[in-house]
Amino acid sequence: MIENNNDRVFHCPACKNEEIIEFTDHIHCPICNLDYDKEFLGVMDDENMLSRQELGGTVNAFDDEDKKKMLKDDFWS
Ligand SMILES: [Zn+2]
Repeated sequence: MIENNNDRVFHCPACKNEEIIEFTDHIHCPICNLDYDKEFLGVMDDENMLSRQELGGTVNAFDDEDKKKMLKDDFWS
C-alpha cells in the first residue's frame, strides 16, 4: 500500500505540509484533505498543481477506499 522505495520527500503543494501520507502513486494531505498524483509532483510548479479532487472524476469513492486502507495500515501509530 505504502511504498518507501523512493527517496524523494513529497510535500503538499497547497500548504507545503510535509506530513503527507504517501501512497504508491499519489500523496494525501491530511490538512487540505486533498490527493495529488506523484507523476505531477515535481513536474508542475506547486501553484499549478491540481489535486485529484480538483481534477474531478470518480475520485471521492476512491479516496474513501484509500482512507480505509490507511487506517488498516495503522499509519498513525
Ligand atoms: Zn496541504
